[in-house]
Order: sequence, then C-alpha cells, then structure tokens
Amino acid sequence: MLRNVKYSNPETIADAVALLGEYGEDAVVISGGQSLMPMLRQRLADYELIVDINEIEDQDFVTVDGDDLRIGCLVRHADVANSDTVAEHCEMLAEMAAEIGDTQVRNRGTLCGAIAHADPAGDPPVVAAALDAEITSQGPDGEQTYDGSTFFHGFYETALGKNEIITEVSIPVVESPRGAAYQKYEPSAGAYPTATVAAVVELDGDVVTDATLVTGAIEPGPTPMPDAESHLEGETLTEALVTETAEQVGDGSDPMEDSDGSVEFKREITKTLAKRALVTAIDRAGGNIE
Ligand SMILES: Cc1cc2nc3c(=O)[nH]c(=O)nc-3n(C[C@H](O)[C@H](O)[C@H](O)COP(=O)(O)OP(=O)(O)OC[C@H]3O[C@@H](n4cnc5c(N)ncnc54)[C@H](O)[C@@H]3O)c2cc1C
Repeated sequence: MLRNVKYSNPETIADAVALLGEYGEDAVVISGGQSLMPMLRQRLADYELIVDINEIEDQDFVTVDGDDLRIGCLVRHADVANSDTVAEHCEMLAEMAAEIGDTQVRNRGTLCGAIAHADPAGDPPVVAAALDAEITSQGPDGEQTYDGSTFFHGFYETALGKNEIITEVSIPVVESPRGAAYQKYEPSAGAYPTATVAAVVELDGDVVTDATLVTGAIEPGPTPMPDAESHLEGETLTEALVTETAEQVGDGSDPMEDSDGSVEFKREITKTLAKRALVTAIDRAGGNIE
C-alpha cells in the first residue's frame, strides 16, 4: 500500500520544474508510472509529492525534423511501436519498443521515462546510447541537452541534473547506407531482458566505415564495445568478419552473475545476439555478407 503522499498535476513543464525546485528531494516526477509505482508500493522510494506530468499539453509528439526523429516526453512505448513515422525513420526503435514488458507496460510507460530511469536491464537506454540520441531537459537553469552515448552512468544513474525533466529525445534518422538493429534475450515473455545488443553500421559499398556496438542488461548500464567496433571498421564484409566481431562483443563484455545466469552464459548469449543484430543492421544498411 502507498503511504499518504501529495499529488500535483501541473499544466506546464515550467510549473512542474518549479514544484520540483520547491520540494527538492521530497518530490518525484511521474510519467508512465510503470517503474515508479512498483517502487512506491514496495516502499523502495518515499516522497512527499508526486508531480504528474501527464496533463501537460503537446508532449506526445512523434515528428521528423530535418535528419532527426523527435519524440516527446508523453509518448508511450506502444506509440513508438505502432508509429509509421518511427518504423520508417528508425526501425530499430520501433522493434525495441514493441518488445518492452507487456501490453499494460507499453500502453503507459514512456520512452523518456525509461531513459530517465536508466534501469540496467531497460531497453530504451541501450538504443539511446547506440544511436547517440540527443536528450533534452528543462530544469532550474533552463534547457539542457545531453548525448545519449555519455548520458548513462550505471545503475539508475544518469547525467540528468537535479530537478530536471526530460522533455524530448531526438534520434538521428537511420537510413541506408546506415543500418541499425536491436536484439534481446528475455527469460520469459514480458520479463526484463537478460542480455541485449544494439548494432549500428555505416557502409561504403561492402566496406564498414563506422560501427557502434552497445550491450545492455549484462552490466550496470549500456556498455560500448570499442574493440569489436574497431575490428569491423575499415573492413570488407564477410561472414567470418561478422562472426569474429560478434565473438569479440561477448568476450569483451564483463557480465554480472545473477539469478538470470552465469558470466559465461551471458557472454555466450551476447555473442549470439551481437551476430543477429549485426546481420540485420548490415542488411538494413544495404550491405551483402559474402
Ligand atoms: C512488469 C514490467 C515489465 C517491464 N519490462 C520492461 C522491459 O522488458 N524493458 C524495459 O525497458 N522496461 C520494462 N519495464 C519498465 C517500463 O519500460 C517503464 O515504462 C520505464 O522503465 C519507465 O517509464 P515510465 O514512463 O513508466 O516512468 P515512471 O515509472 O513514471 O518513472 C520512472 C522514473 O523516471 C523518472 N521520470 C519519468 N519520466 C521522467 C521525465 N520525463 N523526466 C525526468 N524523469 C522522469 C521518475 O521520476 C522515476 O524516477 C517494465 C515494467 C514493468 C512494471
């Protein structure tokens, strides 16, 4: 059961930020509530005031602006999964959102909330890191922007400043000769993943000019794999190259052992996911693996 807590549903981001400033660490933002409510019910967190941002108008946009796909802070996972705009401009994001939790979680949970929450097993942080999304917030010092590749600092920690609210996430449009894909292993339907991999590649013909490989769920936050990326970059695509790179992703990882599996199990799963993600990303980029 929840303890008594005050509730406010401001009509603007500025009013929400002001309330956070007034109550300091005793206030918390709620968007989808899919992570916050379980924490409050289990008394893992305790606040005097809940600042509900769901009544704020015009924050549920999904729009393409130049080379960027912009997603507002009240866009739900289901909206991302079902959006033709997202499917056309960043297929990886749509496929990731479609596999989050269950129907209720997808209908209420928000992309921006998941990025703010930075659950080590969360899917959106991995994709935001791999695509180097631009994360925009409003706070006491006005608007701030953060790079997705450096935003996540491990277990539920981010670069987000005190009393800041993420207002939107902007993702560079992915189109050939760039391709991106996301793969995850979940122990049962609707459960958080045990291991995930996001792959982004850019090609010049059959040569890889740029690669980003990020693992998720096995370490405290999204984890880039620079050695595996270097192994791929500048090389001509072959089946052997893709397999070796995927193996490097697994071998180069440092998984946490827990009830979901041993270090070795997670490394092996990660290799398989990396290979699948790479093959799909290369295909989407328009490449052929010999
Ligand atoms: C049964 C279950 C299964 C799930 N499975 C998965 C899964 O497979 N993969 C996955 O990625 N996630 C999963 N989730 C989590 C889900 O994706 C949540 O939606 C997400 O973690 C948080 O988004 P939210 O909008 O619900 O945030 P909330 O629960 O409202 O808030 C979470 C935290 O983020 C902060 N916050 C929220 N919005 C903002 C904002 N705009 N700016 C600043 N801070 C903000 C809150 O203050 C709070 O600290 C699951 C949840 C449940 C209950």
